[in-house]
Amino acid sequence: MITRSPALLQRQASSQPDVTPLILRSAWQAQLSGAIRDPRELCRRLDLDDSWLPGAERGHELFEVRVPEAFLARMRHGDPNDPLLRQVLPLAAEGEAIPGYITDPLAEADHTPARGLIHKYTGRVLLIASPTCAVNCRYCFRRHFPYEQNAPSRSQWDASLEYLRGDTTISEAILSGGDPLAASDRQLAWLVERLDAISHLKRLRIHTRLPVVIPDRVDDALLGWLSATRLQKVVVLHINHANEIDEAVVAACERLKGAGVTLLNQSVLLRGVNDSVDALASLSERLFEAGVLPYYLHVLDPVAGAAHFDVPDEEARELVAGLREKLPGFLMPRLVREIPGETSKTPL
Ligand SMILES: *Cc1c(COP(=O)(O)O)cnc(C)c1O
Ligand code: SF4
Repeated sequence: MITRSPALLQRQASSQPDVTPLILRSAWQAQLSGAIRDPRELCRRLDLDDSWLPGAERGHELFEVRVPEAFLARMRHGDPNDPLLRQVLPLAAEGEAIPGYITDPLAEADHTPARGLIHKYTGRVLLIASPTCAVNCRYCFRRHFPYEQNAPSRSQWDASLEYLRGDTTISEAILSGGDPLAASDRQLAWLVERLDAISHLKRLRIHTRLPVVIPDRVDDALLGWLSATRLQKVVVLHINHANEIDEAVVAACERLKGAGVTLLNQSVLLRGVNDSVDALASLSERLFEAGVLPYYLHVLDPVAGAAHFDVPDEEARELVAGLREKLPGFLMPRLVREIPGETSKTPL
């Protein structure tokens, strides 16, 4: 999440269908296609009473429900305030128009020298490796871009790779989306092999939520191409609450570390999910138990339909000050905002 360009994605919907026959699908791909996509089923499976249904259906019309079983299994039943459920349960409030909350808060389309590529920050280039996600998070700006679910084509990749080859100031390629790990290992192995051959690239970074919501995504095929590259590897996970980290997630993190990956995490500060010093402290502690260091704590992008998640800046600063009293410095995330046109994240 976070590093992404909806306008760009919308334009790049392309021609190359995933031709992997069903029978060859991996366990994670089966879990991905088996994710819950029906708001009624989501409410029923979690024993929510019927009063939640109309809101869930209304929100689903605006941005479809998507929740993998492995993520659902970590939620409490009968509790509409469960911090994991809050991230994925559509609410009637999503339909309210709130001044300042717009459909494209990041406006990144100006920085796209090749389709599927964003070069906005010095030395780092973002590649949109997959427009889809394994989970639909209600607070995400992606909610307004129900673009086609095709991966970028080889010719688009060729143009992006040509751009990377031509600019020796670029030392880091960041795979983003959507969720880049929603792409097949065949596609990712192809791409990373070509990145590997660009001698001025030093690092490969992957921004993903997949190892969290479907830990089986970290399988031998993924570890194969990841271990094979000479590039230094950083995986930035997206976890907002300690309850997201169960034993399967810890095991997935261990496998990634075994392949030489440095693990970081970014979170979004969300009302009703992690808006307390205790919740944020538990998250940092739990991340570290899983071998992951906190990286960014983002304030919410002002995206239409997500206003009910907002935590005002002043309160955000107070929370982080309270957190600093509790945690060692290395477990402190950096509180930041993404402002369109800026050449880095902006500290609060
Ligand atoms: C957030 C972002 C990055 C990465 O920024 P870091 O501060 O290095 O994590 C790179 N490119 C774009 C366009 C981004 O939005
Ligand atoms: S995983 Fe969630 S937060 Fe990240 S891009 Fe997808 S919908 Fe948005």
